[in-house]
Amino acid sequence: MKKVIFEYVDGNMAGYEWRWEVSLERLDSGSFTLSAEQTLIEADDFDEPLEVNPVSGLVLGEDIFEAFQGLVSEICGDGVDFDLEDVAKNVAALDSATGRRFLHGEELLEQRAFRERKTEQIETEARLSRFKSKIEELTSGLSDEAEKLGTTEIRSPKERVQTYLKSRLMRFEELPSKETAFTEVLAWDENVSPSIQDGWTILKYRQTSDIHGTGGICPYCGFEVRAKPLASRWNANCQCGANLDYLGQAHLKNE
Ligand SMILES: [Zn+2]
Repeated sequence: MKKVIFEYVDGNMAGYEWRWEVSLERLDSGSFTLSAEQTLIEADDFDEPLEVNPVSGLVLGEDIFEAFQGLVSEICGDGVDFDLEDVAKNVAALDSATGRRFLHGEELLEQRAFRERKTEQIETEARLSRFKSKIEELTSGLSDEAEKLGTTEIRSPKERVQTYLKSRLMRFEELPSKETAFTEVLAWDENVSPSIQDGWTILKYRQTSDIHGTGGICPYCGFEVRAKPLASRWNANCQCGANLDYLGQAHLKNE
């Protein structure tokens, strides 16, 4: 069974007009497919309606809500108002429980994201405690003294390598080798000297990228910062307060 759940008529300054119909179809399997169809109202003879890809495999009302928001912003642009209760009523005509979940979609998605973060946090903490003694062992020979790069104080070699290893464990199941960790974190500062500008210390940092995105190793504390995957111009904040930019410089406000 297929039902139109939202209609939107729009036009432009040149006098063209069109209508979008967003439909939801319930398949025999119980899952839903969301699709949109454009009809041209005022157009040139040679104009063809636009096509957008349907979203299939939707199960819960909040999944449909998320897909609906994405589809509406694709076809109508951002900031288009729709009456959520009206749309939810249409969804409920196909299945009442799904309609109710659609209506509370935003809240349900937030709760889901919260649960996922919580689970991830618990897993990370378990992994960190499992590797605690291994990290101590790997870094046992390193100095505990804070170091200076020019006039800037940075964390001790031991603390930086430990922080680096922990940041790896937040994304990977295994620790890198001791050689890798030492090279990535400690061999770096021999080649760099900081510059001071308007109360900020600026250091080059080692840029790294992997499947989790692009980023680098904070030269002040050793944490491996990850920026958004594939974003070309990014800035990322490190847990120590440093800011890593996409040009390869790490900025830290002087106290
Ligand atoms: Zn840092």
